[in-house]
Amino acid sequence: MTTLGTPLSPHATRVMLLGSGELGREVLIALQRLGVETIAVDRYDNAPGHQVAHRAHTVSMTDPEQLRALVEAEKPDLVVPEIEAIATPVLEALESEGVVRVIPTARAARLTMDREGIRRLAAETLGLPTSPYRFCDSLDELRTAAGEVGYPCVVKPVMSSSGKGQSKIDGPDGVVAAWDYAMSGSRVAGARIIVEGFVDFDYEITLLTVRARGAGDEIATHFCEPIGHRQVSGDYVESWQPHPMPAVALDRAQQIARAVTGDLGGQGIFGVELFVKGDQVWFSEVSPRPHDTGMVTMATQWQNEFELHARAILGLPVDTTLKSPGASAVIYGGVDAEGVVFDGVDAALRVPHSDIRLFGKPESFVSRRMGVALAHADDVDTARRNATEAASRVTPRAV
Ligand code: AMP
Repeated sequence: MTTLGTPLSPHATRVMLLGSGELGREVLIALQRLGVETIAVDRYDNAPGHQVAHRAHTVSMTDPEQLRALVEAEKPDLVVPEIEAIATPVLEALESEGVVRVIPTARAARLTMDREGIRRLAAETLGLPTSPYRFCDSLDELRTAAGEVGYPCVVKPVMSSSGKGQSKIDGPDGVVAAWDYAMSGSRVAGARIIVEGFVDFDYEITLLTVRARGAGDEIATHFCEPIGHRQVSGDYVESWQPHPMPAVALDRAQQIARAVTGDLGGQGIFGVELFVKGDQVWFSEVSPRPHDTGMVTMATQWQNEFELHARAILGLPVDTTLKSPGASAVIYGGVDAEGVVFDGVDAALRVPHSDIRLFGKPESFVSRRMGVALAHADDVDTARRNATEAASRVTPRAV
C-alpha cells in the first residue's frame, strides 16, 4: 500500500529533483498534485523547477560534498535525477547507507551519466543491437577507430547531451575537425569521445517505458505509443505520437526497451531511443527519466510522461493509453538576452487545438529551448503542422 503525506507537515512525502529544467518542472507539478512536498535543485538561480517547488536550492550537483550536505539537510524520501551531470558516487553511497531511494536506482544514474556506461551495458552485457562503436582518448585513436568503424561515422563526447560537440565524419579528411569540435562540446575538458558507425535509419523513435508497481509488489513494464522525432544538429526540434511502425519492429523495440530498463531496474519512466530501418531496430540511448521528445505527451496521453513518472516513483499504478494523436515543436530563444519577453502568444493559441508551455528560463540563448508548442488533431500530420505553426508564432525578444 502507498501512503502519501501532507506537504510541510512532519509526515510529508518529500521528493528532491536534481536538475530543475523544463522536464523537472513538470515532474514537480505532477508531484504537487498528489500532495508531495517538493525540493528543486539546480546549478543556477530561478531555474524553471525552482519557480514551482516548495523549496529551491542552487548548488553544484557535480560537487560530492555540496550534494551530500544538501540531501542530508533536506532528508527527502526520494531523490530524482533530472540531468546526467551529478556526482553519482554520492548517490550510490547515500542509497547503500539507506539515507534515500534514488530514482530509478543510483546504479542507473551512474551508468547513464555518460555514453560509455550505458553503451557497454546495452551492447556488451545485454547483447542488444547498436551501431558499431569505439571509445577514444586522442586524435590518433580517433583516426584509427574511425577507419575501423567505417565512414560515415558520428563523433560525440561521452560527457555531453543535446548534440553538443557532436558531428558526422564523411571521410578521413574530417577527423581533425570532428575531434576539435568534440573537445569544445564536452562537459569535461580533455574527456573521451565515442565514435559510432552512422546508422542509415528510416526513422528514429523514443519509446517511453514505465516500470511501475502492479497490483501486488511486482514491477510491471508499460509502453507508451512510439514517439517519432526530428533532430537538427543532435537536438530535438519536433516530435509526434504515435509514430506508425510495423508489428515486428515494434515488438523488437519493446523487447530492447524491456531488456535495458529491466537491467537498470527501479521504478519510473525511461526514454529509450531507437533507430528503425524496415524491421531492424538499433538501441541508441536511454534516459532513466522523462525525455525531451516526450513533451508531446502533454497533448496526447491521459497521463503525460511527467505524471507517469510521478506515479511510478511513488508506487502508484499508471495508465499509458493514448488520448489523441499529437505533436510538439520547440520554441527557441533566438536571441542572447536575460529576461526576454514573448510576442505572439495570442496568435499561437489561435492555431486549432494548440497549447504552449513557456519554461520561464531567466536567460535566453539563440538555440536554447525556451518553450514548446503542442497540438492534438485527428492525425499526426495535421498536429505536426499546427504545432510547428504555433511555435513559429511565438517570438522571444530582448527588452
Ligand atoms: P544522441 O545525442 O546520441 O541522442 O544523438 C542525437 C541525434 O543524432 C540522434 O537522435 C540521431 O538523430 C543522430 N545520431 C546519433 N547517433 C547516430 C548514429 N550512430 N547514426 C545516425 N544518426 C545518429
